[in-house]
Amino acid sequence: MDPEIEATVSGDRPATARAAIGSTPAGAILEVAGLTRRFGGVIAVNDVSFGIVAGTVTGLIGPNGSGKSTLFRLISAEMPAHSGEVRLRGQPITRRSASEVNRLGLGRTFQLSRLYPAMTATENLVAVTRGEAKHALERAAASLDFVGLTAVADEFAANLSYGQQKLLEFARVLVNDPDVILLDEPFAGVNPVMEERMVAHIHALRDRGKTFLITDHEIRLIMALCSRLIVLDHGELLADGDPATVRADARVIDAYFGT
Ligand code: ADP
Ligand code: MG
Repeated sequence: MDPEIEATVSGDRPATARAAIGSTPAGAILEVAGLTRRFGGVIAVNDVSFGIVAGTVTGLIGPNGSGKSTLFRLISAEMPAHSGEVRLRGQPITRRSASEVNRLGLGRTFQLSRLYPAMTATENLVAVTRGEAKHALERAAASLDFVGLTAVADEFAANLSYGQQKLLEFARVLVNDPDVILLDEPFAGVNPVMEERMVAHIHALRDRGKTFLITDHEIRLIMALCSRLIVLDHGELLADGDPATVRADARVIDAYFGT
């Protein structure tokens, strides 16, 4: 086994799980190495390591409070880690600002909406578009078209349905054309029609080479979307591998599915 992979695995796990947990495939576009974040006495993210290959969709699951949102904040540099490193295309990004990391090609959505309710759908996108202003409207229009919201381009965000707001948030991540996209609970509260559209959009983008890391409790959708599942429990990486194997793992069932 690669000694670097061995080194990321803590000693008390069964030997059979070692090769898979925290694996960092060669040429990973996003790498997380030994990432740790505490809040007082709580270790929200505890020595987490893994790498993700470009053009893939990975699910990040785990019970409430297992550290998923904190891990997203650490990866996107919204919050400093106490130790460890994040690399994008091999380049360390851990000590950069969130906006620098975004500029380098990492975009994310949030568990709770960050739309501007009194701006139109188009304005919400233009407000975050980087680069030349003259292209911002075109890019906003292209993003709205991609998620099927062209008809409501001039509606205030506050007047959109919940599902449309979720799609608008997704369009807002896409407007700056990131290579790596983190989605924090994109399906929460979304109806089945919107769910299907989101799944189709994510797969279409993956087929164009985009890389996704997605957390959601809707395990049916995570299984349908992802080629790999990473499980967190109490801030630690509990399992990592193909979705069917991870889902059948007795420790994962105990920690997550069994409750
Ligand atoms: P998840 O997204 O998996 O539900 P979180 O990352 O939100 O988990 O939380 C992981 C742990 O860290 C929880 O115990 C939570 O209470 C704690 N935590 C998260 N954010 C903060 C914060 N800003 N201040 C204090 N504790 C936090
Ligand atoms: Mg969360």
